[in-house]
Amino acid sequence: TCAMLFAQKSTPAATPLERPKLVVGIVVDQMRWDYLYRFYNKYENGGFKRLLNEGFACQNTMLNYIPSVTAIGHTTIFTGSVPSIHGIAGNDWIDYKTGKSVYCTDDQTENSVGSESKAGKMSPRKLLATTITDELRMATNFQSKVVGVSLKDRASIIPAGHNPTGAFWMDDATGRFITSTYYMNELPAWVNTFNASKPIEKLLANGWNTLLPINEYTESTADDVSWEGTLKGAAKPVFPYDAKKAYELDHGTLRQMPFGNTLTLQFARAAIDGYKLGQEKNCDFLTINCASTDYSGHLVGPNAIEIEDVYLRLDRDLAGFFSYLDQKIGKGNYLVFLTADHGAANAEGFLESNKMPTGFLSKGFDAAIGDMLKQKFGEDKLITSVDNFQIYFNKARIDSLNLNFDKIKAATVDFLMQQDGIQYAADQDKISTTSIPAIVKEMMINGYNQQRSGSVVMITKPGWLPYYSKKGTTHSVWNPYDTHIPLIFMGWKIKPGFTTQATHMTDISATVAALLHIQMPNGCIGQPITPICNK
Ligand code: ZN
Ligand code: ZN
Repeated sequence: TCAMLFAQKSTPAATPLERPKLVVGIVVDQMRWDYLYRFYNKYENGGFKRLLNEGFACQNTMLNYIPSVTAIGHTTIFTGSVPSIHGIAGNDWIDYKTGKSVYCTDDQTENSVGSESKAGKMSPRKLLATTITDELRMATNFQSKVVGVSLKDRASIIPAGHNPTGAFWMDDATGRFITSTYYMNELPAWVNTFNASKPIEKLLANGWNTLLPINEYTESTADDVSWEGTLKGAAKPVFPYDAKKAYELDHGTLRQMPFGNTLTLQFARAAIDGYKLGQEKNCDFLTINCASTDYSGHLVGPNAIEIEDVYLRLDRDLAGFFSYLDQKIGKGNYLVFLTADHGAANAEGFLESNKMPTGFLSKGFDAAIGDMLKQKFGEDKLITSVDNFQIYFNKARIDSLNLNFDKIKAATVDFLMQQDGIQYAADQDKISTTSIPAIVKEMMINGYNQQRSGSVVMITKPGWLPYYSKKGTTHSVWNPYDTHIPLIFMGWKIKPGFTTQATHMTDISATVAALLHIQMPNGCIGQPITPICNK
């Protein structure tokens, strides 16, 4: 026939656009860059070492904003943008209209799906910019599937973007993965099957002892030190832990044990199977947050045997997950990147006992700001709260009292500068004219969202911690321990290698966009990392 003749004579079909079958973005919560090397000799070949050997490592990837907290980290990774633009100014911030604290993914107009609890009343509606996952969905006319997975609601919801196939997180009340009516009205069958298989019970059955003999944990301090927090039900912060007892006392303790990560990666496999991710026509995207590293880190700090054990077990879990991807999607067919949302400070007690500079901000200093303002301006309740190392003022009250806001901010800055452990304080609208090193200044400006941030910001001295971290540690500041993160790409079209050139968290989405030939997210200020994208 004519058609046959035409077909025979035509040139061969042009090569279709190449994309990986699946992109997997793994965010290890609170993973400091130096954990890649502090525990290197104890890692096996298939996990972190496989990433370093087969992948391309950006050895100097920094956050380029403060505060360095979870919600902002995940948002910045997946939008390539900063709080000033993407609007996620903290895990929580103050809504100036109501004076009340709001949680980044809270949404009282939605309901839980899969539980009667309130843990599903969530959505990404407060996120002002698109994510790389949104852009992939739009680039393929919503034929690409996007799924977010984490124990933490915000670390599942934000990476998956505004219109994903699904986003799932842990409901502590029931020990089940759930979602919100924002996404769907019923859990997919595969989620119900996963929840019904009682995975937590199985993971906790044998308790938590060290993976290796405890005397081999030479990278960490003695097991029982005064600055470690204690898992519920345990008398001391020492191995072995009764994991079942801890979980029975408080379901939240699952998050503080390595089994929380194991469960997350098991659920990620179930998502790949359940949604056939990477197994159909289009490029799909799975975002995974391993959160137990953060909860455990907060409890015990970076130098505890517990945290080393959490990473050694995560290493083995990652190895298993990568070989699962090899089998299911095929080696070379998927693109993985692994990074972190922020790092963490060494515990104050650890630094102090080893003669390193450290200290705690004094306990009542936030209340003292209010007292000082009352003395100076004759009015109380001028401050709403102190959060994210920022002072939120009651702007409506200051207005109605006809007080001079500039003078109030200046008095607050002066007061803060006299406090132990504070290096700088600044009016957020005057950062660019304050004498602070440029690199810190830029992080401050990038982190300042006019509608959602406090109006005065403070910068602590290196190694100083807020008083609530008496045990364990926290993160939030500009210093390298909180802002130097791992970033490794592996798999589809990635040649092994590394760079020590400065790269930023905002470059991650720009790089993925370049690799996939899709538009970068609409608030992206990052650049593609050229050694990864050049062929
Ligand atoms: Zn985090
Ligand atoms: Zn944290």
